[in-house]
Amino acid sequence: MKAYALVEPGRMEWLDVAKPIIESDYSAILKPIVISPCSSDVHTIFEHGSVKPSNWVMGHECLGEVVEAGNLVKDFKPGDKVLVPSITPNWRDLGIQDGNFTHPSGPFSGMKFSISRPGIFAEYFYVEDADTSLVHMPEDVSLGAALMCVDVVTTGFTGVEAAEITFGDTVCVLGIGPIGLMAVAGAKLRGASEILAVGTRPACIDLAKEFGATQIISYKDGNIVGQVLEATRGKGVDASIIAGGNQDTFSQAIYMTCYGTGRISNLNYYVGDKDLVIPKTAWANGMAGKTIRGELCKGGRVRIERLFSMVQCGRISPEKLITHTYHGFEELETALHIMRDKPKELVKAMVII
Ligand SMILES: [Zn+2]
Repeated sequence: MKAYALVEPGRMEWLDVAKPIIESDYSAILKPIVISPCSSDVHTIFEHGSVKPSNWVMGHECLGEVVEAGNLVKDFKPGDKVLVPSITPNWRDLGIQDGNFTHPSGPFSGMKFSISRPGIFAEYFYVEDADTSLVHMPEDVSLGAALMCVDVVTTGFTGVEAAEITFGDTVCVLGIGPIGLMAVAGAKLRGASEILAVGTRPACIDLAKEFGATQIISYKDGNIVGQVLEATRGKGVDASIIAGGNQDTFSQAIYMTCYGTGRISNLNYYVGDKDLVIPKTAWANGMAGKTIRGELCKGGRVRIERLFSMVQCGRISPEKLITHTYHGFEELETALHIMRDKPKELVKAMVII
């Protein structure tokens, strides 16, 4: 079968690779019907992110159609159209019983696509446990909205949950790409009062305002931390959510988050060799009372069904993130490169196969 794979760092190629087969009675083989390349694909492929074996099939965001299902799969059959969560843990991993859905048996063990198994940039892909992972897709739903639920919405909302946003919180979202925009929307739903959004790209700023940002902050207007402290009368925000930027952004978030009860929630994937630094002064010499959490998104069937129900009830409109739509499997190449090049009108690209 045809697949789009990372041959060596920085170089993707179309390869002919072996088609997956049913390995257990709970598993299923799917074909993607709509794909979105993700910023994390871009980090891994083009920016020296995590190291992969050569000829490794990338991709983890798609809607799919079931092609073949194992004998013990109860709820899905060939022909069913489904949302495919980017996180598909093995629900028999014992770490799950401790509530650890993302790293239950080791780092990133909850994420299969392009981590421990080939990704979804292929004509066919393998899902280990169909009944606990897949979500039925109704006929009349917007493809873009459904597609955004499998990773972007759940990741943005995971950041909001990790930041423990509650009524009246002031929040700063650093980075307003697709994930940051969903963090803005999630913070509003969770009852935040002021939502400061840090970003510069016009298409993202418009959506940030629409989704709930009360103030836009740009590095072009001066020091980010200074602007946030000024907006919060010197106190700092109750919570900051990092959804973009680099290692310096992490330190900035700690500076701008309030002493005593502040929460810093990181969703960013840092590339390069530079370490993350907790500034000693912003950490009050070790006694700041600030909490830092770094999260991979929550996945699995029930999680995505819950988020998808929010789309169906009109609580969120993630289809608005899709600014570029392509048709045909080969256009995946164009879509990936546009996600890398980030023209100013881009928020998120999808490819309808
Ligand atoms: Zn993703």
